[in-house]
Order: sequence, then structure tokens, then C-alpha cells
Amino acid sequence: MEREGILVVISGFAGAGKGTVVKGLMERYDNYALSVSMTTRAPRPGEEDGVAYFFVDKEKFEETIAAGGLIEYANYCGNYYGTPRKYVENMLRSGKDVILEIEIQGAMQIRKIYPTALLLFITPPDADTLRMRLKNRGTETDDVIRQRMERAARESEGMEDYDYIVVNDTVAQAVSDAHAVITAAHARPSRNGQLIQTLQEELRLMAVNSKV
Ligand code: 5GP
Repeated sequence: MEREGILVVISGFAGAGKGTVVKGLMERYDNYALSVSMTTRAPRPGEEDGVAYFFVDKEKFEETIAAGGLIEYANYCGNYYGTPRKYVENMLRSGKDVILEIEIQGAMQIRKIYPTALLLFITPPDADTLRMRLKNRGTETDDVIRQRMERAARESEGMEDYDYIVVNDTVAQAVSDAHAVITAAHARPSRNGQLIQTLQEELRLMAVNSKV
């Protein structure tokens, strides 16, 4: 039986390892499609256009908003980020579970537009682990680490609005946990209306015909 794809939002603090978890899901399972966002921020070294993001200027981004080409967008640290509509809609229709790795404002917009979307929040087991992960990257100054920890404190206020919390202690376990939650979502009665209806009709008919 055809199953419709689930729109899966993955958010989490910077340094929580959400990118690694998403990569693990894509590598280990074949039911996922990863949406590539559009952004006005400049590419970082090694980031390819069309792979990491679609890198555009502000005019192009605003044109795309006006044309209804994004299903959500947000301003994050002075740059626009948004999810292109076409890819998401096509992939969901084809039965793929579509992953959006987006921040919290975007996640809340998705919740309103797609009430059946599944919202996952990825977090380290504790605050000290987050601090150490940010420090061990070695790329950020103490001041930037402090700013990110402050942002994490603010973002943690929104954790209760997500459907599931995935603790990223080891990546392998976090990937399995995220996949388990998504698999379970497919089993909900609300996503199996056709199966339920067909079974109910068949059983009713059998009862009427006293078929054994
Ligand atoms: P970065 O600049 O580090 O790649 O991303 C900054 C933040 O923007 C991250 O939390 C990332 O998940 C989020 N982000 C990336 N793409 C989108 C998007 O399309 N929409 C929204 N709302 N956030 C996004």
C-alpha cells in the first residue's frame, strides 16, 4: 500500500549535532529526502551551491517569498533562511519522509501550515556537553561560545513545543532513536485511514454474508 511521506522538522542547538544526525539518517535509511534551503548568508568554505544551500541575494529571496515559493522562512542572525516549496511537495507526494533542518521560528510556521508534520528537537544530554562540544570545535572564540550558549538558553524555552526530544549522546543511538520515532508516526491511526476503512468494510461484508 502507498504510504504518504511525513514532513519531519529537525531543530536543535548549534553544537547539538543535528547535522550529523541528519547525515546518519540519510546514509542508513532510504525513506528520507533532505530539503535544501535557500539562504542569503554567504557560503562557508567548502559549502557548495545547491548542496549545502541555494545561496541567493536578498532581492532573489524576497522575490521567491512574493511568488509563494517558500513554505516557511525566518531571519536568523541577520540572514534569511527558507524552505523551497516544490521539492518538499513533490517528495511528500512520492512517499518520501522529507527532512527540514531548520530553526525554531520556521518549525513553528511548519506546525501551523502542516499540522501533521513531526517536530524533533535534538539536544545533548546536558548543558556542559554542549559547552564542551562548542569549545572542542576549536573554531570559535570564547565570546562566540558564550553567545551560542545564551542563544541555546533562549531556544531551550521552545523545546516543549516539539513532538519528540532526541538526546544526542552517541550519534549512532540518536540516529536510531530519530528513525524509531518517525517509523512510529507512520503507524498512527490518523495516517492509516485508508487501511482502517478498507478493513472495516471487508469485515462488515464478511459478517453480513456470514462468510467463514
Ligand atoms: P547555518 O547558518 O549555521 O547553516 O544555519 C543557521 C540556522 O538556520 C540553523 O539553526 C539552521 O537549522 C537554520 N536553517 C537552515 N535552513 C533553514 C530554513 O530553510 N528555514 C529556517 N527557518 N531555518 C533554517
